[in-house]
Amino acid sequence: MKPESWQRRARCRFEPKALFFPPEGERPDQREARERRAMKTCAACPVIEQCGEHTLDRPEPYGIWGGMTPDDRRIERRRRRETARAA
Ligand code: SF4
Repeated sequence: MKPESWQRRARCRFEPKALFFPPEGERPDQREARERRAMKTCAACPVIEQCGEHTLDRPEPYGIWGGMTPDDRRIERRRRRETARAA
């Protein structure tokens, strides 16, 4: 699959995939530490907004995308649905 243009500028291209996606059997304390490191990379990424919108448009259940955990994305999707309903 051809990457979208913003993906070519993704900071995580130079990081191990295992930093962004949970390995099997990861303990909660390991997950927290890994996610903190991944989110630091995201915070310095020039395409964090495009990445976040990309993943909010999809049912992406795993990994850190756009500086968001899966729980963060669920919360943001719910917030957007509620905002749209109220409009
Ligand atoms: S925001 Fe994070 S996950 Fe998204 S492209 Fe940038 S570094 Fe990768």
